[in-house]
Amino acid sequence: MGEMKKERVVIIGSGPAGLTAALYTARAQLAPVVIAGEQLGGQVAITHEIENYPGFPEGLSGPELVERMKQHAENFGAKVEFDLVESVDFSRGSPFAVKTYGEEYLADSVIVTIGADPRKLGVAGEAEFTGTGVSYCGTCDGFFFRGKDIVVVGGGDSALEEGIFLTRFANSVNIIHRRDALRAGVQLQQRAFNNDKIRFTWNSVVEEIVGDGGGVNAVRLRDTQTGEQTLHPTDGVFIFIGHDPNNAVFGDQIALNENGYIITDQRYRTNVDGVFAAGEIQDEIWRQVATSVGQGTSAAMAAIQWLEAREDSLQALDAVGA
Ligand code: NAP
Repeated sequence: MGEMKKERVVIIGSGPAGLTAALYTARAQLAPVVIAGEQLGGQVAITHEIENYPGFPEGLSGPELVERMKQHAENFGAKVEFDLVESVDFSRGSPFAVKTYGEEYLADSVIVTIGADPRKLGVAGEAEFTGTGVSYCGTCDGFFFRGKDIVVVGGGDSALEEGIFLTRFANSVNIIHRRDALRAGVQLQQRAFNNDKIRFTWNSVVEEIVGDGGGVNAVRLRDTQTGEQTLHPTDGVFIFIGHDPNNAVFGDQIALNENGYIITDQRYRTNVDGVFAAGEIQDEIWRQVATSVGQGTSAAMAAIQWLEAREDSLQALDAVGA
């Protein structure tokens, strides 16, 4: 590893919030560096079709939107690095050390847009069969379940939306929910209830995912009312039970709320002066491409103002020979 690279802005994460923050800070001549993470574009990159991003009435695919956002930011001087952040040091204030697997950066300001990941059930068989029958992405894996019988776990908007999408491929979709009432909005509920391929198993939780070398062949369910356990044959398990924010790399260096999301104020400032956050790492409610884009814009503008104010005060100090 060579010298630490001095940067004005380092952006951690490359979803819509990160790429938008990159566009704005690039246009302010700050030559931002974007640490892309495991997947350029984050969750959008694995979204089949985006139908609610304004300005694209015919819809467009997640990967295409990501590519356009990246190109747009790069056109103005953003640098996108395909690397992962290993650690950060916010303890001494600005400039902040950001260590990736390939580089070490010293950044005057940091914009955190590292997003959230699908929540895991945490049951036996889940990790073992991920990729061979257990999935967190209908648009990625639905195709492999043509004509099969699958289960979906969850009762929120994601479970229903993905469950409906999966009926394009699957022979049947059994939605397993831990209560007897759905959390999802009424319109999605109606669409699911009207879909012949969908049925519901209420008051049930998955205790184990069972399979063999050929993949998944059943889930062991527990009825939450009676405690009775049953083996339910299935070819695949799609899990949509919410998301967890990707806060691991920050440890206790930044203030988080009780659910692990970074706390920001209206200017997208964190509790660390010079560190800003936008998108799903600090928004557990809206989680839309359009809201992340807006938050990325605000965080970038706040960072630009913060850097300008800091420069002015450094110059003032210089002028008085301090
Ligand atoms: P969510 O609203 O938090 O729902 C998670 C669901 O999973 C809930 O039904 C919950 O059960 C269940 N669950 C949580 N942990 C579980 C566990 N360990 N075992 C079994 N079940 C568990 O998450 P989401 O559906 O991903 O939606 C997140 C946000 O995105 C929401 O604000 C949603 O409105 C939004 N969204 C909107 C759309 C749309 O408008 N088209 C599409 C997707 C997402 P309980 O109900 O019992 O808590």
